[in-house]
Parts: sequence; structure tokens; C-alpha cells
Amino acid sequence: MTDTSSPSESGTPTFRDEWEAMTAEQRRSYADPVKKCIEKGCIEPAGTPWGPYFCADHDDQRINRISKSLAAIARELA
Ligand SMILES: [Zn+2]
Repeated sequence: MTDTSSPSESGTPTFRDEWEAMTAEQRRSYADPVKKCIEKGCIEPAGTPWGPYFCADHDDQRINRISKSLAAIARELA
């Protein structure tokens, strides 16, 4: 099977790539409407494929923070 519609750096689009391409509405379909994001002052429903506690936007921020600190650790080890 060959899919050339959405090339990424690795050659295979990951679910993360698909997620980045989703609209806020589509992302919200993963959230649990009875749960609220635990970020202070946020009233968005919580729940993403990566965790149940944050809304899509705050989960993105969390994941970006994690990848930044992982990059920093990798630099220290190098
Ligand atoms: Zn939030």
C-alpha cells in the first residue's frame, strides 16, 4: 500500500501528524464532555488520545513542553 497524499519526514504519517491536521471540532470528539481540563481557568472538556486530564490545546502545550525537555536532556547527554 502506498500513500503519497501526506508525506512526513519519516515517510509514514503518524497519528500525531493526523492530530495536528485535525480541526478543534474533530479533536473535541476525543474529549469526555463530563470532564473539564485541569488547567486553571480552562472550561474545555478534557481528554485526548494522550491523556484524560487536559483539553486538546493544553495537552498540545504539555506535549511540546515534554519534547523540549527531552531535547534538552538529549543535549546534555551528547
Ligand atoms: Zn485546557
